[in-house]
Amino acid sequence: MAVGFGFDLHRLRKGAPLVLGGVKVPSRHGAVGHSNGDVVLHALVDALLGATGRGDIGDEFPDDDPRNRGRDSREFVRAVWRKIAPRVRLENLDICIMLERPKLGIHKVRIRESIAQLLGVRPSRVNIKAKTLEGLGPIGQGKAVSAQAFVELRPRRR
Ligand code: MG
Repeated sequence: MAVGFGFDLHRLRKGAPLVLGGVKVPSRHGAVGHSNGDVVLHALVDALLGATGRGDIGDEFPDDDPRNRGRDSREFVRAVWRKIAPRVRLENLDICIMLERPKLGIHKVRIRESIAQLLGVRPSRVNIKAKTLEGLGPIGQGKAVSAQAFVELRPRRR
């Protein structure tokens, strides 16, 4: 068994789109980032890379590469998963999103299904948690959105 951890944070800006786990969430503020600023998928990519000893998202998809500008972050997940999926099975993926507003309760199911589809696993393998930070710190003040991901992979039997 291999476990991986990923973390990401992006600033929020008025009028920017908010995309979480590949799902566009209606919001006045969205994430500013080199790609489409999807903190959930960036944390997921880092967790997958971490579980397989492959460094981090910046190694795979550098910010200074113009191809990554405004890029749909689902492409980062697909590219990494394509490389490692032949050798491993995803046992469990647990994601925690930290955002003050909007409340994500009604969006969690869609985010879960979006990620399960992206990885070709059952939604029951994916868990999405959403928290506010009680008004504290930059996330609590609505200046940033953040996500953490834990993944458990098992080697496939040959
Ligand atoms: Mg990021």
